[in-house]
Amino acid sequence: MEITTTLPQVSNEAWTAFRLRIKGQVVLPGDPDYEAAREAKNTIYNRKPAVVVRAEDAADVSRTITFARRFGLPFTVKGGGHSIGGHSVNNGGLVIDMRRMNNIRVDAENRTAWAQSGAIAREFLAAVEPYGLAVPFGDAGSVGLGGITLGGGIGYLVRKHGLTIDNLLGIEMVTADGQIVQATETENPDLFWALRGGGGNFGVVTGFQYKLVSVPQIYGGALVLPATKDVIREYARLSLEAPEELTSISMVTKAPPMPFIPEDKVGVPSLIVFVAYIGDIEKGPGAVAPLRALAEPIADVLGPMPLSGLYAYLEPAEQPARVRVRSGFYNEINDEILDATLAFIESGPPSMNFLQVRPIGNGAMNRVSPEATAFSHRDAQFLLAIIDHWEDAEEDGANEAWVDAFWQSIAGYRQGVYSNFLQAEGEARIREAYAAAAFDRLADLKLRYDPANVFSGNENIPPKPLSAAA
Ligand SMILES: Cc1cc2nc3c(=O)[nH]c(=O)nc-3n(C[C@H](O)[C@H](O)[C@H](O)COP(=O)(O)OP(=O)(O)OC[C@H]3O[C@@H](n4cnc5c(N)ncnc54)[C@H](O)[C@@H]3O)c2cc1C
Repeated sequence: MEITTTLPQVSNEAWTAFRLRIKGQVVLPGDPDYEAAREAKNTIYNRKPAVVVRAEDAADVSRTITFARRFGLPFTVKGGGHSIGGHSVNNGGLVIDMRRMNNIRVDAENRTAWAQSGAIAREFLAAVEPYGLAVPFGDAGSVGLGGITLGGGIGYLVRKHGLTIDNLLGIEMVTADGQIVQATETENPDLFWALRGGGGNFGVVTGFQYKLVSVPQIYGGALVLPATKDVIREYARLSLEAPEELTSISMVTKAPPMPFIPEDKVGVPSLIVFVAYIGDIEKGPGAVAPLRALAEPIADVLGPMPLSGLYAYLEPAEQPARVRVRSGFYNEINDEILDATLAFIESGPPSMNFLQVRPIGNGAMNRVSPEATAFSHRDAQFLLAIIDHWEDAEEDGANEAWVDAFWQSIAGYRQGVYSNFLQAEGEARIREAYAAAAFDRLADLKLRYDPANVFSGNENIPPKPLSAAA
């Protein structure tokens, strides 16, 4: 049997051999699945790859990399599809889609789990939550394990249990030359270091082994307060003074029409605080009392709930939309940032836009040595992100201008950036995500693992030039 290829550089014979050996699905333009297969959640990036390979196992990944390299096809790697910079889908190349590789094996007794990298956070939590266990992922259930873990992973458990990568025991990865390798603290430790923060620069990760932490229930939900300067300032201060069991992720925004927001408060500048207190449930009300006392709440739906219950709050922000994000780590939220935030939120476009505020300091992630992982901003106290979602391409100019002007007014106070929140902002910003020594070591390791930079569809760390490495 011969299968005709639509790729000009590939012979029918080579194409036939490739297709017969791939266990997963090969999706081409015109196939019924093509539109879904090429979807990037950030619809600003409307790209049309020549082939999407929905891999079934590590051997599929290895064969696909080898095939793409043999015929000079650029390729990208897609998991949950949430890359803010649209990196996981390309124009005219090949996409390795990991979503079918979403098996999860839980060892509840030893509190570990093995997950294929194509699983998303919601699937993972559904597998471990029945045991009262969790891994610190982020605030969105549809974000892929591959993307979030390789960048670091900052979420609701960060103050008590650190980053996702602080709970990572091992990785299985397919290298640029198609080899399947393992990385742990003792096996390929350099690679294990690089994969904890260095993103998709070193290979296609096929599986992760995580340490599980105990989270049988949380005291949490949403607390909505009026967004005044005093309220936001005190929220930031109290969040760092709170017990480590309390982490919150909040947004300063005009209150959207959500079921728990009173109708007459829709549109009012608000601080919406999504809370996770993971200590003893009886101590939950006491832990959140200082936040509740900040002002007469607009809404208060805090109470005992499963950790997975928090995912519902972010669902509107996970839908495909045109998205612009500008972000940074901060050591404090000063008066200038507060003034700018209130002014820009008040005058914002009629889109879903907000300043996301994540108090992450005084906790477990800060106690890990900055040299221990490629993620090096271990002293960060806050992660601030200006996030704007809209539908219509005609509104790009107004929304982008608003984000950029807001960003200009707060950018100067930042202390670095989180690589997973970058939006293809250029080399200087990628360097900002790492300490200088960490970036240098990453570039060295890139030269060792991917000298041809075939994994470049990402926030790219180019291999150190051979001359510089000698
Ligand atoms: C709505 C939303 C909420 C978010 N919330 C959080 C949060 O709370 N905490 C947080 O830390 N981050 C958060 N993020 C950022 C998120 O972690 C990154 O955007 C991440 O890269 C998305 O991963 P993905 O697999 O869904 O995306 P994809 O677009 O599929 O992948 C993104 C990139 O990751 C790399 N990659 C993915 N899978 C693999 C793999 N198997 N092997 C090698 N490389 C791979 C590739 O370079 C790829 O281009 C959020 C993003 C969004 C859009």
